[in-house]
Amino acid sequence: MKVKFNLPKKVVFCKNCVMSNQRPSSIPEFHHKKNRKGANYLKIETKTGWCSACLQNKIKQKINWNSREKELEKLLSKFRKNNGEYDCLIPGSGGKDSAYQAHILKYKYRMNPLLITWPPILYTDYGLKNYNNWVNIGGFDSLVYRPNGKVMRLLTKLSIENLLHPFQTFILGQKNLAPKIASKFNINLVFYGENEAEYGNPIAENESSLRNNSYFVSDNINSLYLAGIKIKKLVKEFDLNLNDLKIFLPIEHKELKRKKIQIHYLGYYLKWIPQEAYYYAVKNTGFKPRPFRTQGTYSKYNSIDDKIDDLHYYTTFIKFGIGRATYDSSQEIRNGHLLREEAKNLVKKYDGEYPDVYIDEVLEYIGLDKDKFHKLCDEFRSDHLWKKTKNGWKLRHSVNLDGTDD
Ligand SMILES: [Zn+2]
Repeated sequence: MKVKFNLPKKVVFCKNCVMSNQRPSSIPEFHHKKNRKGANYLKIETKTGWCSACLQNKIKQKINWNSREKELEKLLSKFRKNNGEYDCLIPGSGGKDSAYQAHILKYKYRMNPLLITWPPILYTDYGLKNYNNWVNIGGFDSLVYRPNGKVMRLLTKLSIENLLHPFQTFILGQKNLAPKIASKFNINLVFYGENEAEYGNPIAENESSLRNNSYFVSDNINSLYLAGIKIKKLVKEFDLNLNDLKIFLPIEHKELKRKKIQIHYLGYYLKWIPQEAYYYAVKNTGFKPRPFRTQGTYSKYNSIDDKIDDLHYYTTFIKFGIGRATYDSSQEIRNGHLLREEAKNLVKKYDGEYPDVYIDEVLEYIGLDKDKFHKLCDEFRSDHLWKKTKNGWKLRHSVNLDGTDD
């Protein structure tokens, strides 16, 4: 049995949430090519049977949020400017989390933020409305950075062909753009939102953790991959120049240091519950959920900006056996909004749903033939996860124990 992408051979589900150990847990996913050498996957502790995200969340419940807030105030007082200049940069596309984050920093903590948006590859009408409301009702100065559409399309297509990862270009831009814009505008503080510590990743609060996090900083761009291809090769093969690609790449460490830019996660300082961020955004920035359910899951308000989103989670289902409902419901179990039994039903009902609402438009945009896309999907199915039956592909293992090998 051939196991693809260095995935863990044995499928194990967390006993608390519905996530499996097949979930990539570290960022290098985005830089590596097909074999994903050195990739990290979600750890499940043998003693408790809980995954590291759940364990981390348990620790989080013991955090003294009052003292964390004091830390935040101390930090902000170091950076706050009252001379009309921006004092922090907030990346986001107008989803509930970025809306909450920007609003609370400006109106509760009296910061003077500038928003920076790396727009979705294909904005949904609802996403665009929410973005406009964020700026116009929330009340912010904002910048939208439009990357070269031709290169964006090419890279998105290549990421699908090489990695089955339609979202790579968006994620890279979303993470890598802000520090570079901060540098250009002489803003010393960049605030990301949700604390990635929820996923067991380090908090980007100091230089050493940043240094270990090639997501944001890089000293040697030639060592990086884009769309699964080494930068140098990409430039040569597709008649590009380095300028075409630079916007997707991380800021260089020496620049970050020279400009004294700090990167923080607001979720480290404030208790962050997605459902509450949603209510806050509805109230303060005119955020609206989509009137229909997102394909692949049950929710109407999580990450609804990009038409490629549904396709992205369809591909995680193919590659890792983990669909959007698994991601969404695991997070809600951790926040006490869902029972595991309920989550299992939602996974059974929605995980891996075919994204037919937007798929034609998406494939047409990138110029990828639908049959070819389906063929690619099959190439990316790992033997240890999937079995071909006379009724089509079936998962070998599921959290509901109804897989072919359960
Ligand atoms: Zn878990």
